[in-house]
Amino acid sequence: MSELAIRKEIIATCLKMEELGINQGTSGNISHRFEEGILITPSGISYDMLKPEDIVFVPFSSKKDYIGKYAPSSELDFHFDLLKEKPEINCVLHNHSTYATSMAICRMDIPAHHYMVGVAGGKKIPCAEYATFGTSQLSKNIIKTLDGYSACLLANHGVITTAINLKKALWIAIEVENLAKQYITAKQVGNPVILSDKEMDKILEKFKSYGLKK
Ligand SMILES: [Zn+2]
Repeated sequence: MSELAIRKEIIATCLKMEELGINQGTSGNISHRFEEGILITPSGISYDMLKPEDIVFVPFSSKKDYIGKYAPSSELDFHFDLLKEKPEINCVLHNHSTYATSMAICRMDIPAHHYMVGVAGGKKIPCAEYATFGTSQLSKNIIKTLDGYSACLLANHGVITTAINLKKALWIAIEVENLAKQYITAKQVGNPVILSDKEMDKILEKFKSYGLKK
């Protein structure tokens, strides 16, 4: 993908998040690997105002040497660290979607109440330990939690998803929000039954050939 195509796709994905109601204002942010660094949404610009040239390039050699007329997102640390440390992913997507964030506020993992929990590669969507937004401690907590998972909740904050491309990262983010909504709704009508470890093993095996291929 060309640099311009990536810049355009980052903006299109931001707008899509807004359209889907999984993010609002400037609270979410997106990054994509490009050459020896990352392209990331700028800090404090609303998505509908974003132009391809507003997306900031940050080289892996130094966070301070970013190229762009705006500063990179205040959440640069976890985007940068994840893409630098995990060569298997190309994108990081972050939002504050309501239901998933509500579970994160309760510092709960999303349990295996539905087979789709396997979308993030495991038997739950784990919740990372709390740290102040924009800190390297938050980044460390996320990296520790994402071990083997492609998505996690951030305590009292929001959601993060990672993938090989933005289409997949967005798909996972939508599923995570749906899962949280289902769990919270089910709690209101009764006691959600959680699938057993054995059943989840079967489901995770099936997941190897399920979902978005590209
Ligand atoms: Zn955030």
